[in-house]
Amino acid sequence: MSQRHIRNVAIIAHVDHGKTTLVDQLLYQSGMFRNEDLDKLAGGQHGLIMDSDDLERERGITILSKNCAINFNADDGDEYKINIIDTPGHADFGGEVERVLMMADGVLLLVDAFEGPMPQTRFVLDKALQAGLKPIVVVNKVDRSDARPDYVVDEVFDLLVELNADDETLDFPVLFASARDGWATTDLSTTKGASPQAKNLKCVFDAIVGHVPASSCDPNKPLQFLTTTLDYSEYTGRIAIGRVISGRLTEGQAVQVFHHGETSNQKVLQLFEFEGLDRRRVDNITAGDVCAIIGMDPIDIGDTIACPDDGETLPRISVDDPTLHMTFRVNDGPFSGKSGKYVTSRQVKQRLDRELQSNVALRVEPGETPEEFKVSGRGLMHLGILLENMRREGYELTVGKPKVILREIDGKKYEPIETLAVDCPSECQSAVMGLTGDRRAELITMDSKIGAGDYVHMEFSIPARGLIGLRGRMLTATQGRAVMHHTFREYATMRGQIPQRSAGVMVATEAGPVTAYALDALYDRGFFFSKPGDQVYEGQIVGEHCKDNDLPVNVVKGKQLTNVRAAGKDDSARIRPAREMSLEVSLEYIQDDELVEIVPDAIRMRKRLLKEADRRRESRRLSSLPA
Ligand code: GDP
Repeated sequence: MSQRHIRNVAIIAHVDHGKTTLVDQLLYQSGMFRNEDLDKLAGGQHGLIMDSDDLERERGITILSKNCAINFNADDGDEYKINIIDTPGHADFGGEVERVLMMADGVLLLVDAFEGPMPQTRFVLDKALQAGLKPIVVVNKVDRSDARPDYVVDEVFDLLVELNADDETLDFPVLFASARDGWATTDLSTTKGASPQAKNLKCVFDAIVGHVPASSCDPNKPLQFLTTTLDYSEYTGRIAIGRVISGRLTEGQAVQVFHHGETSNQKVLQLFEFEGLDRRRVDNITAGDVCAIIGMDPIDIGDTIACPDDGETLPRISVDDPTLHMTFRVNDGPFSGKSGKYVTSRQVKQRLDRELQSNVALRVEPGETPEEFKVSGRGLMHLGILLENMRREGYELTVGKPKVILREIDGKKYEPIETLAVDCPSECQSAVMGLTGDRRAELITMDSKIGAGDYVHMEFSIPARGLIGLRGRMLTATQGRAVMHHTFREYATMRGQIPQRSAGVMVATEAGPVTAYALDALYDRGFFFSKPGDQVYEGQIVGEHCKDNDLPVNVVKGKQLTNVRAAGKDDSARIRPAREMSLEVSLEYIQDDELVEIVPDAIRMRKRLLKEADRRRESRRLSSLPA
């Protein structure tokens, strides 16, 4: 296919604004898939083929950016190939966004017709503008009863003005869509009363072909290919994905790879283009197109693949440094090996090494003991996803409290600061301000959301330290009505103390199944994470104490059986429902002397030292140390 007929478009959307749904519908309407294929791929009611990873489907976010390609017959009679470049849906994967954008010549900016653009959209959009890409705005979910599409278009306009967009960019094309129902239009007034058959996504294809420029890459110059993403297969090793910037790439060709300041001569073993959601083996790829190459080793993100003799390297793209680290340890608790397949430090290390092959923002260093690894990443979500994947694969681990990574420049300490955006009903505003104020957040903007009823939108700059544990408290303080999102902003000087968890915990003193009788007796002491029947062990955290000190409790105590029948409340134990602690909530909850135990069938919290006597000795030792 000639370069004139290739369109590379990146799709930018905030989590849940409907990116996956739209791409699925585009794939479907392009005629490349039948419902049965979709069902086979996604294992469900024709859909969500993009989020193919189990975890992605469950959480409803895109973790890894994937490419797909759609063929489209335009009105001019020509066939076009549209490479759709997915961008990750969460700020923790932000580093990936910048790199992925290098494959694109234009962007589809997808915004929810109620929520409007969110801070993360701003972050990615800014990067896209810097890369010289022009947006096509798609206002999605116009079928929502609370949709306010016109205001949302204004908000996008304001956002672009704030980002110093030029006049041509401000003249962006707008499409109104209901991705779920599979249609889009340039003029909402024409859709009222139109039959479902008359509605489709053709105008999205037309807009891409008409507004995204064909790539200006030159096929007649010497070869240059920029590696922007890595994939990994057990059989073939690393797979380099990126765009041919100039020249032509042929299977079997000898090339020169510029790898972190070194060059090596290598050979392209296999070459693939994207077709639908699959990859198709091809003989050659021309400048402008996106492809995957097998056979390069060593290869890394940012490496240039060029011709062997007069090849030149492209400017290196950087990968953002990690901002958070935590300690991964083998599970040495009493239940170790009960539900997991992989429990040894060697197995954990092998798994982490494998992850490093494609997860470029991840760093792994040896820990203090051979059983520990210091793992650093872009944020809690980034590391949380890795842990969750390992758990599902059958690994057992314990991890310590996440810590932000500080930097020292000229003897001064700097910490990561994030932009936090909160949307909530106005009556929750003071609760939100109180919580964020405690955590050294500074208010940047606050305005009421026009057209969205009694809602306020606030943006803060907040130390990343302050975000750990904030989500849970925010939900409690606003009865779940606040929506918050954050994204990395900058490194800045330390902002001072941030309050830690104020409550103590209840720690089990004995192993066994939890009894209703014991929970009833402890009813006034706080709330529990375990329910009757759960197996617990000595040192496990079973609940939160209503006071600030830790309380050793016996939750396995059964009622003394006697022959005498006691009067009164025999069977009516008072028990509150157990509080469910997800992986990320648990990670945010624990303190320095505590661990989260992650095994395939459970997520538990425990004290690092399981015996109470050991903990007492340790705290005496710590208090005797000079401050
Ligand atoms: P992503 O996180 O951006 O990939 O979002 P998804 O495509 O997974 O969509 C998030 C949710 O929004 C899903 O529950 C979709 O069913 C829903 N959704 C997507 N498009 C529309 C739409 O046009 N209208 C409505 N009402 N809901 C939609």
